[in-house]
Amino acid sequence: MKAVPLPRSSLDDYAPFVGFEAVEVLRAEASDLEGSRVLHISSTPYGGGVAELLYTIVPLMRDLGLDADWFVLDRDDDFFTVTKILHNALQGMGAEWVPEMTEKYFAVNEANAEAFLNDYEFVIVHDPQPAAIPMFLDRSSGRLGQWVWRCHLDLSAPVVEAWRFIEGLLDHYSAAVFTTAAYIPEDLGIPGFIIAPSIDPTSPKNIPLSLEIAASVVARYGVDPAKPYLLQVSRFDPWKDPIGVIEAYLLARAAIPDLQLVLIGSMAEDDPEGFYYFQKASRRAEGLDGVFLLTNAHGIGNVGVNAFQVAADVVLQKSIREGFGLTVSEALWKGKAVVAGNVGGIPLQVSDGTSGFLVDSVEECAEKVLLLLNDPGLRESFGRAGRETVRRGFLTTRHVLDYLHLFKSLGR
Ligand code: UDP
Repeated sequence: MKAVPLPRSSLDDYAPFVGFEAVEVLRAEASDLEGSRVLHISSTPYGGGVAELLYTIVPLMRDLGLDADWFVLDRDDDFFTVTKILHNALQGMGAEWVPEMTEKYFAVNEANAEAFLNDYEFVIVHDPQPAAIPMFLDRSSGRLGQWVWRCHLDLSAPVVEAWRFIEGLLDHYSAAVFTTAAYIPEDLGIPGFIIAPSIDPTSPKNIPLSLEIAASVVARYGVDPAKPYLLQVSRFDPWKDPIGVIEAYLLARAAIPDLQLVLIGSMAEDDPEGFYYFQKASRRAEGLDGVFLLTNAHGIGNVGVNAFQVAADVVLQKSIREGFGLTVSEALWKGKAVVAGNVGGIPLQVSDGTSGFLVDSVEECAEKVLLLLNDPGLRESFGRAGRETVRRGFLTTRHVLDYLHLFKSLGR
């Protein structure tokens, strides 16, 4: 495993967004845990929501006096092919699973366990990729610490065999954490906790940007900021339904001919399907003026995503399954009206008809987009409500506070 180099963070920077009281509560809660050795393990240092979260919460834990680290797995590309199948199956997509895949999964976990120096009090293992590590650790020293499995996936309807596979690994854990109660399996044999993810108001992805600056960034990529555009920021993956987004856009464009569509999707390292689905979406968009498919290969980083979100007219997250969907909170925080799939963690963030619309089909998506594009007042009131939802529930400080409570309830 490799340690991920992290930026510095200061809790004081959050006060303008969450208030001094919330900052003080966090400091007080952290004081009993000062010096605790905390480790997060995930599969990749960039791409996707888990990496986005860990870049924020680990530095903030350090600023609060915890001795926190983040390690990522040593692995090869075949491992990610196997774990993406497991990821898909946990979200309900059946696929062939052959014994070689089990072997590959355990071999990588075992090799990482061998290199693990275990003197942490709390180890949080994110998602299925590293979940088998504690199975291979030597228990004789009696210093294994408390292991917590943090599941970020939409576990509402898993393929049963995939869940049984993970369940078999959880004997080595003290607890598991899920995004919402609906994901906690009935037969979970260890204590289950609920912690929703969060976005960082101080990060380059979310810092305030003026509309003028945002428009100038957008224009550099060929998008006309004087004309309306829809935006979806997501990996190219079947669960994010990029093809459905293009279909919904085309329906809306029939009524608003100068409407544009921007799809931004980074190629996450642990997502070997990304290129295939990107090409699929590119083929569907071929010959369509006003459709922009952008990736990290175009040089769109965090500030670029921020700019596209700030200047968007309506933000889409037309997912079919969605563990949480940080992109939704990111858009709401920027005061954007969101039209999103009525699935997984999205209804935690979007209140239908108040801060956005929750939809179940391409047609419904197009209909709600048109409603919003034709009503600037509605967009504004949705935007205000959405930002307040995020301020109250989905900023980093609340997230870190939940972790402190979890550590305390597990005990040092
Ligand atoms: N993201 C990004 N660039 C992209 C696509 C996604 O920076 O081209 C970020 C996005 O802003 C969000 C995260 O990656 O912070 C995706 O997290 P989310 O929970 O929405 O989805 P996941 O990929 O974890 O399923």
